[in-house]
Amino acid sequence: MEQHPITKAIRIRTDQTNEMEHSSPLFLTSSFCYDDAEEMRATFADENDNNIYSRFSNPTVQEFTDRMVALEGAEAGFATSSGMSAVFASFMGLLKTGDHLLSCNAVFGSTHTVISKYLPKYGIEYSYINADASAEEWKAATRPNTKMIYIETPTNPGLDIIDLELVSAIAREKNIIFNVDNCFATPLGQRPIDFGADLVVHSATKWIDGQGRVLGGIVVGKKELVKDIHAFCRSTGPSMSPFNAWVLSRSLETLDVRMERHAKNALYIANALENHAKIASLKYPFVPSHPQYNIALKQMKNGGGIVCFELKEGLQAGRNFLNNLKMLTLTANLGDTRSIASHPASTTHAKLTEEERLAVNITPGLIRISVGLEHQDDILNDIVQALDNC
Ligand SMILES: *Cc1c(COP(=O)(O)O)cnc(C)c1O
Repeated sequence: MEQHPITKAIRIRTDQTNEMEHSSPLFLTSSFCYDDAEEMRATFADENDNNIYSRFSNPTVQEFTDRMVALEGAEAGFATSSGMSAVFASFMGLLKTGDHLLSCNAVFGSTHTVISKYLPKYGIEYSYINADASAEEWKAATRPNTKMIYIETPTNPGLDIIDLELVSAIAREKNIIFNVDNCFATPLGQRPIDFGADLVVHSATKWIDGQGRVLGGIVVGKKELVKDIHAFCRSTGPSMSPFNAWVLSRSLETLDVRMERHAKNALYIANALENHAKIASLKYPFVPSHPQYNIALKQMKNGGGIVCFELKEGLQAGRNFLNNLKMLTLTANLGDTRSIASHPASTTHAKLTEEERLAVNITPGLIRISVGLEHQDDILNDIVQALDNC
């Protein structure tokens, strides 16, 4: 019987060495050896699967990749040094001058920079569409030269949900590659490929690492698409370090239990805070007041670990809230065992104009909480005392 993805994420491993180790070893090596000239020739001629050089492939990185491929239900994958190199490689491996990229407008900040600043340097056009666009609006936004649709769902930091089935149907009809950043949900919260995505990209730095230690990224999806991305990476060098792969591969063994608890804590916090006097509105995918609650229920297994809320008093209240926190950490990362608070308008998205921020639902008083694994009441108590003193 075929094993479940979470079993594969624990049991897939590099071949055991003669030492008979139980936990898989770390192959911290730049290159690999051959017995003789003929074996070396055959390896370089692609006549076998031997490793050559860790920029191309490495057993520890392959273990992480194979586990992610199993979790996402993909055909193939390639692991990269960071989430951004995964996003960039998925564009550069597949797009060329004259192509058009259609993206939802609420994307991770550096992704926005890549799309709007760097792709045009190579003659790749782009346009943005609202996360809540209808099927007609999605159709109207595609162009004859649209080669890829790129989305994040839930979006960062606004937590908007995009209907994966709706967008994938349009992409399929028009023969467009559908590429989904699944960083916020993780494969345990949502599997975009099950809803028709061709490619899934991740920042493994967040929930996948889960403890804020290493950077990493991965692209998984259709074999023929991953082949082109691999070819781009093999020559340009954004490959994942074997050490980071070893750390991240161990993390995958606990991803299911961690995400279950992150989501449970987040739902508890969201329910407890929703009617707080200082909060104008709160967003969590699995709270019925979320504008796309029904889509979230359709495509997500849990609501994930991020809760957002809007403070009634706006920008200064946001800064006061951060200053009042005693336990939650002020840091740029998310997806950690430790709960984290951030205020996008004064930090990660401060460079955008007010208008640009509002277009992607980043209001002056928006607070994003990455809910950790501390006791749910300790997290809640710290947030409530910080709110009360705002
Ligand atoms: C962090 C993040 C990225 C970029 O990943 P890095 O590992 O920081 O390069 C991309 N997309 C989303 C949604 C993210 O949160």
